[in-house]
Amino acid sequence: MQNLVEKYNVPGPRYTSYPTVPFWKNNPLSVTDWLETIFKNADFFQNSNMSLYIHLPYCESLCTFCGCHKRITKNHAVEGPYIDAVIKEWELYRAKFISSPDIRELHFGGGTPTFFAPDELIRLVRAIFGKDFIDPEHAELSFEAHPNNTSKEHLEKLHAFGFRRLSLGIQDYSPTVQQAINRIQPFEDVKKVHETAKATGYKSISHDLVFGLPKQRMSDIVDTVKKTLELRPDRIALYSYAHVPWIKGNGQRGYDESDLPQDAVKRALYERAKEMLEAEGYIEIGMDHFALEHDDLAKAFKAKSLHRNFMGYTTQNTDFLLGLGMSAISDSWFGFAQNEKSTEKYMEIVNQGVIPIFRGHLLNDVDLEIRKYILDLMCHFETTFDEKSTSTELHEAIKRRLEGMITDGLVIIEGNKVKVTEAGIPFVRNCCMAFDQDLADKTQQENMFSKTI
Ligand code: SF4
Repeated sequence: MQNLVEKYNVPGPRYTSYPTVPFWKNNPLSVTDWLETIFKNADFFQNSNMSLYIHLPYCESLCTFCGCHKRITKNHAVEGPYIDAVIKEWELYRAKFISSPDIRELHFGGGTPTFFAPDELIRLVRAIFGKDFIDPEHAELSFEAHPNNTSKEHLEKLHAFGFRRLSLGIQDYSPTVQQAINRIQPFEDVKKVHETAKATGYKSISHDLVFGLPKQRMSDIVDTVKKTLELRPDRIALYSYAHVPWIKGNGQRGYDESDLPQDAVKRALYERAKEMLEAEGYIEIGMDHFALEHDDLAKAFKAKSLHRNFMGYTTQNTDFLLGLGMSAISDSWFGFAQNEKSTEKYMEIVNQGVIPIFRGHLLNDVDLEIRKYILDLMCHFETTFDEKSTSTELHEAIKRRLEGMITDGLVIIEGNKVKVTEAGIPFVRNCCMAFDQDLADKTQQENMFSKTI
């Protein structure tokens, strides 16, 4: 394993989209072109359904490992105007829709959604749905909960509206690691929020852990997983720390490169955690997720209906993902669009009555074909070349790029089918990279992505 990790640990995308963001070509993207990609789906506003992602960017303090779009402030007066802007943005889209779209999934991400007062969050969802309560059997509503500021009132009010799923940002319980990443949250505090959420009736609680953090040792990950198992969350995300200080500016400079576990040492942290989780009945799903058998994510993985989008792995494969809020990304399958990344600029444009996108990508036929292959690989570890495709040259080029992985026993090709082997699962991003024509065409790949392992 060690040699393979050294060989394949290269900078590469996480493939929440294809084409990946650095290769998007429509910059700027016009609102007209963007809306056309939505209406391309002829059925859309008759029988189709959609997902909503809402970005809530404020945080009270900066975690130094953070790669998200956020604004640090302790001034809670920002809440109201920001929620007003998101509601306004939603209304701008609603004015374009012929009929009321069927929202099947809504997720609050950030930033810190629980920075906002419960009543502000409820005001937002009421305005979006036009209702006081959503049937959780019809739509899956979820939010990211910061253990340090999620109150009983947050849990109760959101649950009363119809939220049934939340994810708690944990990262690692070691005080040394928490100090290095400037995120102090003792296990007892997390336990309290977790148990209150359970008692309130949340049916799926996820804990987000991170491996490869500064100063993280094997004993830290073992202790973190042990504590996590004590609470037995339904889902566990075990993300690889993405070190990209050249993109994230000062946010990732609170520690030294020498503080980071590298290559095989870093991968060993994941493998040990995986061993511990599997021994307790968790099923490994996709690239970095685990779930208990009863959880919908595990069921979707087994039924091969798992989907992946900008929110990560999901059980819902809707026709359109609309991202609202600063920096949020939307996906109409035929196109991607991203909102303004500065909070002030986002609010200013929305308040002028304009949909606040600033860049995106309109997918051509080849993009759409590659997108499908990469999505299959990320969700099911296999894909099948489309026999009707005219891109035979592309297929041959992909096969050539996979030769090394085939020799190393990480991938097999049987007829038109490409399968990632058990040994190849840690290297699934590398397999996707062989399908990625943009990467193949690019000569300079340095400093665009974090490493694959
Ligand atoms: S990790 Fe979360 S809470 Fe910390 S700065 Fe980033 S977005 Fe904010």
